[in-house]
Amino acid sequence: MNSVWLEYALSSRQSGLVHVSEADTSGGYTCPYCGEGVIARRGRQNTWHFAHSGDTCHSVRAKRVLPLLPLYYDFYHLTPTEMAALRRIYNYGYGDKRATGRLESGGFIAWNPYRGRMGSYDVTRKGEISLGTLSLPLFAAVQADEIRIMREKLKRETEQMGSIDLMLYETQIARLHEASLYFLQVTGHVYKIGITSRPLETRLSEIARDIKPYLPDSEIKPLGVWQHAGRLERYWKYRYRHSQYRLGSLTEYYWFNDVAPVLRELRRLHLEIEVQ
Ligand SMILES: [Zn+2]
Repeated sequence: MNSVWLEYALSSRQSGLVHVSEADTSGGYTCPYCGEGVIARRGRQNTWHFAHSGDTCHSVRAKRVLPLLPLYYDFYHLTPTEMAALRRIYNYGYGDKRATGRLESGGFIAWNPYRGRMGSYDVTRKGEISLGTLSLPLFAAVQADEIRIMREKLKRETEQMGSIDLMLYETQIARLHEASLYFLQVTGHVYKIGITSRPLETRLSEIARDIKPYLPDSEIKPLGVWQHAGRLERYWKYRYRHSQYRLGSLTEYYWFNDVAPVLRELRRLHLEIEVQ
């Protein structure tokens, strides 16, 4: 499977890069690397992306990874065995020996000689992100560091690799920086998270329409809007994946018996990340 998706393309009608979600059907999009035509693919199965109308160019094919925003699309790749071992260590301080070595060298766990009688493993922040147990404010800080590190790396590479990677990267950051994270009480114990770059009022009327078939008597109550927090949405969804509440095909709804800790965490967010 080709895991490299082109999410942005150049447009003949507007300047800068266009995100696939904002592309229209009239076309006129080109690959930022090779300049050939690309088509917006917006299916139900795959992540939305631009595909080359001919063969995918060498520049995109040769890349193992596109310069994607750190900790937005995924939260470190671990195998199911490693995840199981990490979960055991998180709960009990020890796990499967074979997996332990890999987790330690990958920085997911660290030996703590003072824990317990003989010492045992601690799960690091990186490991906690994999598990989804790291709090949202701490996650935001780790992600901000990784964003800075990746930016420096891309800047250093500009001389050999050209500036397209850096441009793609900064476009993603700017796009998510413009977006606000909102959290709503839909009805009773049902809540919704999402991001929007438009006024919340506009989004609220769309949401009311979406949920009407499932929850006809809901009264949507906004519990908070966090500006510049768009980059945190996916981790939040990952962290609370076990509380997801399905309403037909709608996936951004959650069930919380006690919402207080969830809200407390959101209210502790301090976000500073420079857009360049
Ligand atoms: Zn191309």
